[in-house]
Amino acid sequence: MYPTDLDPAFISHAPGYWSDEATEKWDDHRWQLRNRVDSLADLELRLKLTDEERAGVLLAGTKLAMSITPHFFNLIDRDDPDCPIRRQVIPRIEEGWNAPEELNDPCGEDSHMPVPGLVHRYPDRVLFLVTDRCASYCRYCTRSRVVSGVGEQHLETQWEPAFKYLEQHTEIRDVLLSGGDPLLFSDDRLDKILTRLRAIPHLQFIRIGSRIPIFLPQRITPELCTMLNKHHPLFISIHANHPRELTLEVRDALGRLADAGIPLGNQSVMLRGVNDSVDVQKALVQKLLMCRVKPYYLYQCDLINGSSHLRTPVAEGVAIIEGLRGHTTGYAIPQFVIDGPGGGGKIPINPNYVVDTASGKITLRNFEGEIFEYPDPTPIPAADLELLHQEALSRSV
Ligand code: SF4
Repeated sequence: MYPTDLDPAFISHAPGYWSDEATEKWDDHRWQLRNRVDSLADLELRLKLTDEERAGVLLAGTKLAMSITPHFFNLIDRDDPDCPIRRQVIPRIEEGWNAPEELNDPCGEDSHMPVPGLVHRYPDRVLFLVTDRCASYCRYCTRSRVVSGVGEQHLETQWEPAFKYLEQHTEIRDVLLSGGDPLLFSDDRLDKILTRLRAIPHLQFIRIGSRIPIFLPQRITPELCTMLNKHHPLFISIHANHPRELTLEVRDALGRLADAGIPLGNQSVMLRGVNDSVDVQKALVQKLLMCRVKPYYLYQCDLINGSSHLRTPVAEGVAIIEGLRGHTTGYAIPQFVIDGPGGGGKIPINPNYVVDTASGKITLRNFEGEIFEYPDPTPIPAADLELLHQEALSRSV
């Protein structure tokens, strides 16, 4: 294992071994985007691929593109073919095989779109898919059917009809901007979208889902933070899966967002060979708190086509929550959820701490396995109440 994975220290991987130009331009997010690793030739210049990876890259071109920012690429341990960073962004041959339980649209989003690009699944909130592009592409992306633009299906967000729908549906109070990654937009474009949303009086709360702080922390400029600060209440959900992703640069970028008054939560995904152990998850959630980020959800990986090599049994996620609860700060514990396949929404999954629910009491076990009983409230007997009345009356005379 990479030596610092469980170490709470934040280290920099910039610019590492890349090019002479990189040393000068590393902090420029536009340079990072222009220099993404997105071809087999580029990848093989920098990494000795396994046969499974080479075949995976060759197959990926018509499904979900490969693209990795130099920043994120530098987190890869090039001597470790099982590196947890590598497994998230470098395609493997297994992606080409669809298990019988897998789906093209695992969360049933397409069937809950009243307007192309707007998913209205829950009563008071919507998911607004504003782009199909990301700084890097995750091999387990739940929206791989549209994200990256190389598959058969394309995201065709209809902006004006979407804004009109939001204006007309006064029950909607919460909009989540996602995609793709909304923070790939220019400050100006994002400002216009947020301003338009803020002009709708019943929209109380805006969220942005973004992996940019992890893939491209250089994008979190002071100017971006100043612009976002105008649109409160605004929350950002980031997406980190492994403690190595929380570098010095990422911690500083998250600090800039937090200083702009933006509450930050993390949504991670259970992934085989990446974060399927209590030790790695504990290091991740503790480091997130140091970055001022609340671990929010731990997702069971959706039933995405070609994801069986990355998915874990549900019981492993439950065991991880059990290994965290009581063993570290309560703020550090995410809610483990399964997105109900086909559009069921998020369903919380918890270890069972209830041993028995006999009438009048509940029997519980704590994180150390000790048993406790918690009784229901005892009704006050009428005679005792009468006595209390009489005592009160005697004191008023
Ligand atoms: S950043 Fe999010 S939307 Fe983009 S590829 Fe990763 S999981 Fe999918």
